[in-house]
Amino acid sequence: TYVVTDNCIRCKYMDCVEVCPVDCFYEGENMLVINPNECIDCGVCEPECPAEAILPDTENGLEPWLELNAKYSAEW
Ligand code: SF4
Repeated sequence: TYVVTDNCIRCKYMDCVEVCPVDCFYEGENMLVINPNECIDCGVCEPECPAEAILPDTENGLEPWLELNAKYSAEW
C-alpha cells in the first residue's frame, strides 16, 4: 500500500484524490489518508502529489504513518 505522510498536513492540493482509480483517499484530521485495504498499489498518486507526501510503505520508518492512515480511513 501507499501511505500519506507529514508533508500532507494542511496541504490543500487534491491531485492525488483525482487520479486514484479506486477512490481510496479519505480525510483525516488535518491531512488526507489512504485506506491500506483498498489501495491497489498502482503508484499513480505518488508523482501527482505536489508536496511529495505519498510514499510506498516499503520505505523505512513509515509504520506510524501506516497506522494513522489505517485508523483515519477506517472511520468512514
Ligand atoms: Fe490510489 Fe494507486 Fe495511490 Fe493506492 S497507489 S492510493 S490505488 S492512486
